[in-house]
Amino acid sequence: MTTPGTELIELETGVYARLHAGLTNAGILVGDDSVLVIDSLRVPSFARDLIQDVRHITDKPIQYVIDTHAHWDHSWGNEEFPDSVIIGHQNCYDEMVDVEWNRVWRDKIIASSDPWADEAKIVKITPPNLTFETSMQLYFGGRKLELRYFGRAHTSGDIIIFMPNEKLAFTGDVVQDKGVPFFGDSYPEDWPDTDDGIAELAVDRFVAGHGPIGNHDGIVEARNFIHTLVPHLQSAIKEGQDSASATASALDAMSGFSDWRGFENLGDTIPLVYGRLTR
Ligand SMILES: [Zn+2]
Repeated sequence: MTTPGTELIELETGVYARLHAGLTNAGILVGDDSVLVIDSLRVPSFARDLIQDVRHITDKPIQYVIDTHAHWDHSWGNEEFPDSVIIGHQNCYDEMVDVEWNRVWRDKIIASSDPWADEAKIVKITPPNLTFETSMQLYFGGRKLELRYFGRAHTSGDIIIFMPNEKLAFTGDVVQDKGVPFFGDSYPEDWPDTDDGIAELAVDRFVAGHGPIGNHDGIVEARNFIHTLVPHLQSAIKEGQDSASATASALDAMSGFSDWRGFENLGDTIPLVYGRLTR
């Protein structure tokens, strides 16, 4: 049995999406002699569950961990992979060694009533030990992985793991299938351009950090979400609207996305975007 609440989906031989209902997804790739994991998840016990699920598939050692970005729910399990090469964007590294940035996150998690709140106290935040700026190629298990950076978006260091031959991508939280992303650490002024780059990738299927597996339409729709929300708020700000009135009119403009996960909280989300745009 794999971890309750999770589902392992084999997308290609040896390429798995590990979906975790309501929580954070991961990727597992089995190579000739070793394993590559995409995202180490929120706290050490979640990483150990992930490792257990890898053991369900293979006993090969985990050679690589790729962090899609620096957010705690994707990378705070890194310490459970002491023998692995941990790869991430240079900005992901910078965010993970930013003491203040992480203190705010840790306080927020500890103050929550979530089952992992206590464990967050003891996380030893472990940044990537191999970073890149624009792109990196990794040849693994007979497959080509392109690690691509398209610019700042949901954080300063979100990367896409693109498999051109399989037309498959792991997209972290930048692009989700019908899911409102978190904007608290975002760069909304850059995000539209970043999404334009991602939408050009020849991708048939993608695994996001949250939610179900999507197809190329899902990437285009995620791009449209950002391209609707951000310019709307930018013109409201230009007109001198305050956060409350800009939020009210943006909510109207976003009504076409009402079937998205998290849409019910958009009224709380938009002020974060407004705040980021008026920093
Ligand atoms: Zn996330």
